[in-house]
Amino acid sequence: MKITVKEAVQAVQERINSARIRSGRTDAVKLMAVSKFHSIQEIEQAIEAGISLFGENRVQEALLKFPELFAARKGIELHMIGTLQRNKVKSIVPLVSCIQSVDRIQLIEEIIRFCSARQKKVDILLEVHTGEESKSGFLDEEQVMRALDLLTDPASFVIPRGFMTMAPFTNNENDIRLSFKKLYSMQQRARQRFPSMQLDELSMGMSNDFEIAVEEGATLVRVGSAIFGNRE
Ligand SMILES: *Cc1c(COP(=O)(O)O)cnc(C)c1O
Repeated sequence: MKITVKEAVQAVQERINSARIRSGRTDAVKLMAVSKFHSIQEIEQAIEAGISLFGENRVQEALLKFPELFAARKGIELHMIGTLQRNKVKSIVPLVSCIQSVDRIQLIEEIIRFCSARQKKVDILLEVHTGEESKSGFLDEEQVMRALDLLTDPASFVIPRGFMTMAPFTNNENDIRLSFKKLYSMQQRARQRFPSMQLDELSMGMSNDFEIAVEEGATLVRVGSAIFGNRE
């Protein structure tokens, strides 16, 4: 029997909690529902189940669904989590509170340009390539540090909040864990180098690996199919 979105959200939340407790964490872990390929009605079921944070990975799809949802529902928030082209920055920034998939210098420059011109604030996460199979993300730590160098202005409209990664798509738990450990240790070094920034957010973990991510320090997990079922 197919379980409801509400039951699925509760089950995911319980698994997050158990992972937090067994790893001795006392801080909160945010649950994002990744709603790509799912309808407004399904998103509303997730809202009813207590979800307020959503993730979409395509600009066009976000534009089709979220203006309507924002008009109907208070207190919900959307993050961009997919590869973003520079010419789409102007369409997505007005819709999201955070762009998690910032993976190159030219994209940062474009976001800064747009947000300064509009006097519009947006949070960003730097996406880091930590595993073999993933295609996106900054490839090495030096690039990440150079990107952060562009974001040191405290008056800037573009606010760096931390890091995002995708673990390799594999059943090998060790490889997955290693990927999350890499992101965590890079965050520690970035914080030392940029002590004035609040680089607290670690967005890692999806349906297949969010418990490992919580054990390794994720502050935000991005869960799609474990909440909405498989995408068609
Ligand atoms: C689709 C997607 C997710 C969620 O994937 P599931 O395996 O369905 O949980 C998380 N993060 C990103 C960047 C995605 O594109």
